[in-house]
Amino acid sequence: MGTGILLVEDDEAISSGLARVLDGQGYAVRRVATGRGALGRLDEDVALVVLDLGLPDIDGIEVCRRLRLQRPELPILILSARDQELDVVAGLDAGADDYLIKPFRLSELLARIRAQLRRGAEMATAGDTKPLSAGDVVVDVRARRAYVAGQEVELRPREFDLLALLVAEAGRVVTRDRVMHEIWNTDWMGSTKTLDTHMASLRQKLGRPQAITTLRGVGYRFEGV
Ligand code: CA
Repeated sequence: MGTGILLVEDDEAISSGLARVLDGQGYAVRRVATGRGALGRLDEDVALVVLDLGLPDIDGIEVCRRLRLQRPELPILILSARDQELDVVAGLDAGADDYLIKPFRLSELLARIRAQLRRGAEMATAGDTKPLSAGDVVVDVRARRAYVAGQEVELRPREFDLLALLVAEAGRVVTRDRVMHEIWNTDWMGSTKTLDTHMASLRQKLGRPQAITTLRGVGYRFEGV
């Protein structure tokens, strides 16, 4: 039996279409159309959840929060209609790992699903002492040293913290709020200058401009390439 995916979507046309595609990729898909249904169907063989935010009974963000409580390690990918940027940020804060805005390309969805499942498998096998890595970027948090393609990169303290956070969450979205909170110990006050400056410097030092994707108004994702 394939890897289990729980698909939570109330639009029957989207749901059946996605289920067919995922099934064709060898995943074992279960479909539910409500938040209540999702919370009731979360058993052990579900390895990933694809969650629509606009559900008829419970708000998708609340569903995300409750799924996260039940299964802290479970990858959750949210689907959102256009113009719901704030909902996306709220969903990520509620514990979602990544998101797609409808309409999206199926190839994009499948790539994100593969990335999340890979990450989930790595999380399950990685020990605490192992350096973090994504692509050819390695971050040794205990030694506070970072490497690109085997070469050490000199980073300032905040740049190092930023890189460690992004690589630890490689393939997932890290919101700007979270970066400000975890690295600058401050709540996001709307000024982007400090973060933008550090991000630009980090990108330059990595020499991998494509490694960090900026998601406008939301945050960043380390692509591990
Ligand atoms: Ca919907």
